[in-house]
Amino acid sequence: MTAELRERIASLPGMERVLPALEGLDPAYLVGGAVRDLLLGVEHLDLDVAVDGDARRLARELADRLGGDAVEHERFGTATVTLGDLELDFASTRRETYPRPGALPEVEPAPLAEDLRRRDFTVNAMAIGLTGGDAGVLHDPHGGRADLEQGLVRVLHDRSFEDDPTRLLRAVRYETRLGFRIEPHTEALARAQASGDGLSTVSGARVRDELLDLLGEPEVGAAVARMAELGLDRALHPLLRADARLIERARDAASEVGADPVLAALAALVACDPDGLAGWVDDLHLTRGRSAAVLRAARGARPLADALRRELAPSAVHALLHSEPPEALALALALGAPEEPIRAYLDTLRDVKLEITGEDLKRAGIPEGPALGRALRETLRLKLDGVVSGRGDELRAALETARRREGE
Ligand code: ATP
Repeated sequence: MTAELRERIASLPGMERVLPALEGLDPAYLVGGAVRDLLLGVEHLDLDVAVDGDARRLARELADRLGGDAVEHERFGTATVTLGDLELDFASTRRETYPRPGALPEVEPAPLAEDLRRRDFTVNAMAIGLTGGDAGVLHDPHGGRADLEQGLVRVLHDRSFEDDPTRLLRAVRYETRLGFRIEPHTEALARAQASGDGLSTVSGARVRDELLDLLGEPEVGAAVARMAELGLDRALHPLLRADARLIERARDAASEVGADPVLAALAALVACDPDGLAGWVDDLHLTRGRSAAVLRAARGARPLADALRRELAPSAVHALLHSEPPEALALALALGAPEEPIRAYLDTLRDVKLEITGEDLKRAGIPEGPALGRALRETLRLKLDGVVSGRGDELRAALETARRREGE
């Protein structure tokens, strides 16, 4: 087993150079998701290395030895080493204690065993030695390997969800991604936390990170259905009622309309009560543009879908869609809006521009002012509907409109 694991690690791209270069430095271990996925035989891109010692110093020395780059993250005492395509994240082994439920943990240096004890689930609480006689040795104090074989997501202790309720979302994500089951006692603890304090003790930013990861899962429909079944939607906010099929459809439709799939899914999640949930969306601290797109889509997609079901002139489709974020189009499609006007808008209508400008109208004697803007908009409408085409036509139509308006 040890020799085989050493082999497997050495065969990860770039690692055949890293392993000898780690010799003589502080003890280092591959940890977390990388170990889980190595044992499962699936690819895992970012490799986390725990160092029983000074992680930043070790990262610097390793980068020196191999001619790579080490970027140190002062605030967290961590470092990232990049060697060609390989990226390794280094952190010192540590103990974490929670001053109160949901708070950020207090952190202090501690040996590997403590570092594994602070982790979320047994399958993520294993390490493999990378140095000296420990190279290839599996450290598995919580039975992670057995749970991996049985396909179980299990917490390490009964207060786990209370300490950090974001683990509720992580449990569902791993269950869906790995095709595992949450182990029965863990599930009972999850339901108790969901119906008690839920995620109310956690900052919006931490909820956001885990929720967006969950909404980005390939099997998002299954993940959200399970989330709702465990009561996690209400645990996020009492008004949330997750519609798994709608969320899945919105995410699928996102790629057709150039929307951000995860934001489209989030808009579908809050579409059950956008006004009631607006404050909750703000608390997630998305960038302002992203949060505005989510709320606009959540509020506007239903009326949009209804309007698009009617027979509409191209200019009316343009008027409806031109100031909507793509996420609103994705959600409208998910709500059953017909595809054809949306396709027409994306393929042609949105790129239709006038050949003339305000300058042309001013040169023809129209004074600057609202009438000029209206004339240009009206001419664009005529162009979209195929009533005018070509520069000459446009100018005539615009001048006629402007003068008529002036006369009114
Ligand atoms: P994946 O995205 O495949 O889950 P990962 O398992 O590496 O990758 P990360 O979110 O990068 O997941 O976390 C790395 C490791 O840190 C986890 O495997 C787990 O051991 C630990 N961890 C992450 N979040 C928590 C948490 N909220 N509580 C306890 N341990 C955590």
